[in-house]
Amino acid sequence: MNYIVFDLEWNQSVYGHSGEHPRMPFEIIEIGAVKVNEDYEIISEYSSLIKPRIYKKLHNSIRSMLNYDEKELKNGKPFAEACAEFLEWCGEDYIFCTWGASDLYYLQTNMDFYYMDRLEFPLKYYNLQQIFADIYNSDHTICKLEKAVQMMELDADEPFHAAINDARYTARILAAIRPKDLFERYSYDIYRHPKKKEDEIVAFHAGYMEQISSEYDTKKAAMEDKDLTTIRCCKCKKKCAKKIKWFQTTQNSSVAVGKCWHHGYMLAKMKFKLAGGSDDNIFVVKKVVPTDKKGYEEIRKKQDDLREKRKQKRRSKKENKKEHAS
Ligand SMILES: [Zn+2]
Repeated sequence: MNYIVFDLEWNQSVYGHSGEHPRMPFEIIEIGAVKVNEDYEIISEYSSLIKPRIYKKLHNSIRSMLNYDEKELKNGKPFAEACAEFLEWCGEDYIFCTWGASDLYYLQTNMDFYYMDRLEFPLKYYNLQQIFADIYNSDHTICKLEKAVQMMELDADEPFHAAINDARYTARILAAIRPKDLFERYSYDIYRHPKKKEDEIVAFHAGYMEQISSEYDTKKAAMEDKDLTTIRCCKCKKKCAKKIKWFQTTQNSSVAVGKCWHHGYMLAKMKFKLAGGSDDNIFVVKKVVPTDKKGYEEIRKKQDDLREKRKQKRRSKKENKKEHAS
């Protein structure tokens, strides 16, 4: 099996949100990819500029990054042609590798815009940015490609933000880390999500548990679903005792802590994602990872801090009202 390490560059409306095409807020203008064999050697490359159809003027923030402009893009290929060529070049037996989750997301948005055949579902891929973070950053925070190249002390002889160069850099990082358990470190692409309950994805791999739910009308409905709120140990899959009940950390994420009798504390996180389409349905991406007493205490503190913040907010609201009344 080959690894297809790819990178995209995309453009957006220069008029901001109002000039945006709702079906394609970001338009791909370049595809760069390298094919890597199981010995982590680059065996082939693909690169193509794409002639934009919606956003013909480059957004300033994009222009400043690129080493080409509108003139060169005019000679690019139409997206559907380049994309079909790229997928043909990928061959039969491969898995995608990208730096972050956005490239696969925007590739599929653009493919849908042109009503191309969809990629398989569910789609597994390697998110090298996350894999790198999991191995090299104790708190699992992701970093930019430049930083990772620097950390691995790789040659940075080509400019970044040219799709083919970024694909090569990502491939070099893959070759430099060569994780023995790479096959376990896949991610599920969430451009599409399960439509029916029976198609939900539940996977135990790379030491964690991952669940991608089908749709719910509201967050409340999701939080009433025991299948979703139950925390299972990522080692023995048994139900954990709840140590900290689910609480919201941001508008779109919740967290909880459980404890397995045999394997200790488990940190569970949920992210609520818009399902798209005409209603406001959501789906949930849930992850459970092992943690320790310290991790448990951090979450406890976070919960206390949030409570205190809410209290203060209520207090200042009351005081404001009083002031207005007097
Ligand atoms: Zn367990």
